[in-house]
Amino acid sequence: MAGGPSTELQSYQNRHLPEQAGIARFIEKWAGIPLNFVEAIGSWIIVRPMNAALRQLDGLSYKLEGTLLKRILQHSLFPVIMIAGFFIGLTATEAGASTESITTLALIPVVIGLIVAPLERLLPYSRNWLEGGNDSSVDLMMFISGAFWNGFAKYLIQVLFLVGMIEMLESYGHGLWPGHLPIVVQVFLFILIKDFFRYWLHRALHEVPFLWRFHAAHHSVKRLYWLNGIRSHPVEVVGQAILFAFPYALLQPSAEIAMIAILMQLTIGIFQHANIDLKLGFWEYIFSIGDNHRYHHYPDKKVGDSNYGGEFILFDILFGTFHKVKGERPHDRIGIGTAPNYPMTMAGLYIAPFLPDQKVFGPEGEPETEDGIPVEAELGELRSQG
Ligand SMILES: [Zn+2]
Repeated sequence: MAGGPSTELQSYQNRHLPEQAGIARFIEKWAGIPLNFVEAIGSWIIVRPMNAALRQLDGLSYKLEGTLLKRILQHSLFPVIMIAGFFIGLTATEAGASTESITTLALIPVVIGLIVAPLERLLPYSRNWLEGGNDSSVDLMMFISGAFWNGFAKYLIQVLFLVGMIEMLESYGHGLWPGHLPIVVQVFLFILIKDFFRYWLHRALHEVPFLWRFHAAHHSVKRLYWLNGIRSHPVEVVGQAILFAFPYALLQPSAEIAMIAILMQLTIGIFQHANIDLKLGFWEYIFSIGDNHRYHHYPDKKVGDSNYGGEFILFDILFGTFHKVKGERPHDRIGIGTAPNYPMTMAGLYIAPFLPDQKVFGPEGEPETEDGIPVEAELGELRSQG
């Protein structure tokens, strides 16, 4: 056979992966026409002008390289924004949880985005991750889609007659919750208990092949930036909402605590994916942010099947799935190593888990390349096909 292993691999990919992506592309093109149209409009009226505006910061970003100001920002941004988020939540809910405070809280992710997006441009972890073509437009759509499916999950809980069970749990819950503790302790205790459920769900999403099909939609991203934490398949969104209904019902903290907790979860979630070159130090041994999550998005599942925590990293440390290499800076070639042509439009992301052969699974125990593509398996298949 002519050419080294990498040429063979490339020709294998060129011959086969576009073929499997072809079915998805067909569905994306025809069934997805209205969605693709909205995405194109979003790209032209929101994403492109925003990128053009943010590009103005590039000059300043290069000037910041190696300065003391950059070092100060790298160390202080995370704790400062976390503390600010907590006090904003506290103030917004001071007069009790109301429609107004809920609106204020709903606006906060938008405000955080307006702060974090310029910070990514000023202090990028990877300059390759600054712009992603159409992906922000798709992520905005997935944000709206996620809100819709969360609402649908609540309806489903009623239809499935889970309401009775949840109401029953509630009566126990009122006695369980330690409402006398300081607010900050209550907020993080609530997130920690919820995170126990997220840890096991997320671990199952990776380690059970049927579930990985759905979670792969989230891992199809080619870059990490503040908005892509919300890119999840509707099946995952609905499944998680139903699962979380039980701890929420059982715990029953006050509405104020729940709202501040949601705000803190949003803040941590943004730092989980943000393309900001922060010096997080010991925070990475407490929260599931920074390098922890960059490893989680590695194309090689042997590395990526780690750091499952939603907000905290405690359960990964406890249950042996914590991955961190001291002194190593994670690389930026993320995605699904075996499926580089994974569909990238919203219609494609919805449909992908149902395709017969999606190449999101790497065979067990095979040596893999740096990009996570199992060499022997693919070459073997190539050879057998002559
Ligand atoms: Zn994951």
